[in-house]
Amino acid sequence: MIFTVAIDGPAAAGKGTISRAVAARFGLAHLDTGLLYRAVGAKGGDPVTAARGLSEADLAAEGLRTLEAGQAASRVAAIPEVRAALVDYQRRFARAEGGAVLDGRDIGTVICPEAEVKLFVTASAEVRARRRWLELGGEAGPRPYPEVLAEVEERDRRDMGRADAPLRPAEDAVVLDTSDLDADEAVARACALVAARLPGAEAGR
Ligand code: C5P
Repeated sequence: MIFTVAIDGPAAAGKGTISRAVAARFGLAHLDTGLLYRAVGAKGGDPVTAARGLSEADLAAEGLRTLEAGQAASRVAAIPEVRAALVDYQRRFARAEGGAVLDGRDIGTVICPEAEVKLFVTASAEVRARRRWLELGGEAGPRPYPEVLAEVEERDRRDMGRADAPLRPAEDAVVLDTSDLDADEAVARACALVAARLPGAEAGR
């Protein structure tokens, strides 16, 4: 069975949580494509060379989940040669036997426009920044909320404004706004959508 679930959207909208849950529920492979760009940004040196030579060890490097690594990722992600170097790997993963969930920014628009399910997960910048801030420890954490909000907005601007594969919903994507949903509700909606399209899946399973 070839079956692709494309989950796109801005930072901290809930893509990761939804993608992992959908993959586990339906027994699909999962690729967090943001990690590829984070690894390229973290590797240092020429980003195009880094993207062409990306290895499993690079993807397991420490510190790839930090806000700083996210900023570095979004800078290298604006370079067309970096994006081009990562396309084949993502396409093969998306169309491999057994089915796959990929989350990122351009999965439904560029990497796999033929995906059977396309979801665009979003939430207001304030809600997303608050989630990131709480993850970092909130009041007790190292970053004041306004700083986290400014970073989220900066990354949105860069991801939406770049010329190559800008962040936007595919025309046939279902938009899921998680601003007023908790994680369980968001996951339930995504799973219902997949169940309705996946051959042999029972709705509500
Ligand atoms: O999703 P995550 O926050 O890990 O992504 C880090 C950055 O990588 C994003 O801000 C974006 O610039 C870039 N990215 C991308 N295309 C993808 C996934 C991530 O441009 N498919």
